[in-house]
Amino acid sequence: MSGRSDQLPKRKLPSNEAFIEGLLSGDRTLLSRAITLVESTRSDHQEKAQSIIEACLPHSGNSFRVGITGVPGVGKSTFIEALGKSLIDKGHRLAVLAIDPSSSRSRGSILGDKTRMEKLSTDERAFIRPSAAGNSLGGVARKTRESIILCEAAGFDMIFVETVGVGQSETAVHSMVDFFLLLMPAGAGDELQGIKRGIMEMAEGMVINKADGDNLSHARRARADYQRILHLFSAHPGGWTPQVRHCSALTGDGIEEFWNEVVMEYQKSCSENGYLRLRRDEQAGYWFREHLEDRLHRTFYEHPAVKAEIGIMEKKVLDSELSPFKAAELLFALVQ
Ligand code: GDP
Repeated sequence: MSGRSDQLPKRKLPSNEAFIEGLLSGDRTLLSRAITLVESTRSDHQEKAQSIIEACLPHSGNSFRVGITGVPGVGKSTFIEALGKSLIDKGHRLAVLAIDPSSSRSRGSILGDKTRMEKLSTDERAFIRPSAAGNSLGGVARKTRESIILCEAAGFDMIFVETVGVGQSETAVHSMVDFFLLLMPAGAGDELQGIKRGIMEMAEGMVINKADGDNLSHARRARADYQRILHLFSAHPGGWTPQVRHCSALTGDGIEEFWNEVVMEYQKSCSENGYLRLRRDEQAGYWFREHLEDRLHRTFYEHPAVKAEIGIMEKKVLDSELSPFKAAELLFALVQ
C-alpha cells in the first residue's frame, strides 16, 4: 500500500523552512500537508518529514493528550464532538487523530468513511485527521505519534487520539497519551461487551455512554459494576484511582462533569506528584526502542544477501538439512 503519497498534490512541495515556519504559525493547510508527508512511504518524503519533526520537537510536548477508545457504535465521534465543542469554547485548540487498526489490512475502515464530527471538522479551532492507512499497526501508531508533535508545534493544546476498542491498538495509544479513556455502552448487563480486561486495566477513566431515556438506569448500574471491577485491578502507577462516570454524548449530560471531576483532577494530581512527567519520559523510551526494533527489522530483511538466501535457508530447514537455529545463525552471519 502506498500510504497517502498518491494523494499528494502534484505541485511542488514547500521548502522545509516554509513548512516549519507555517506550522509554527498555526497554518492548518501546511499542518495537513506535513502529516501527509509523515504518512507517506516514499523515502524522500520520509526524509523531509523527519527534518520537519526534528525542528518541531522543541515546540512540542505542551499539550494534554487523551486517548479515547470503545467498540464501534459506542458513540466515540458523538462524544468527541460534544466534549471537543465545550473545550474549544473554553479557548482550547483541539486536534483529533485516529488510529484505525482495520485500515492496515482490509482497506475498509471501522472508523468509517462517513463524515464524522461534522461540527468540529468545520471549526477553525479544531483539526480532525482521519486514520492513516499503513502496512502495520506499529507503523500507523508511529505516524500518529509523529503527527502529535506536528499538531503541538502548530499550537494545538489538546490532542485526542481515537481508536477502535477491539484490542489491537490500545497499547500503542496508551503509550502516547496522558489519559486513557474507555467508552462503554449502557445497558450492558454484566457482560464486558467484548472489551478485554487488559484494556480496562489501562484506563484512567471509563464513561458509560448513552445514559439517556430508558438506558439511564442501566447506565447507573453499569457504572457501579465497573467501578467495583476497577477496584480489583492493581494500583495505578500515578497513585490515581480510575473513575467511572456516565454521560449522554447526544444530550451532553455528564460530559462537563466527567471532564472537570475526572480528567482535570487527574491532570492536577498527577502533575503535582510528578507522574505525568515520568510517564512522558517512559513513553519516549518506549518509542526509542520501538524505532530501533523497526530499524533493525528492516535493515535485516531488506539486506540483499538476506533477501537472496532466506527462501533457500527455509527450504533447507523444511527438508531437515539444517536446524532452524543453524539456519538463522547462517543468515545472520551474512549481515555481520
Ligand atoms: P462510534 O462508532 O463509536 O464513533 O459511534 P458514533 O458516535 O458514530 O455513534 C453511533 C450511534 O450512536 C449514532 O447513531 C449516534 O447518534 C448514537 N449515539 C451516540 N451517543 C449517543 C448517546 O449518548 N445517546 C444515544 N441515545 N445515542 C447515541
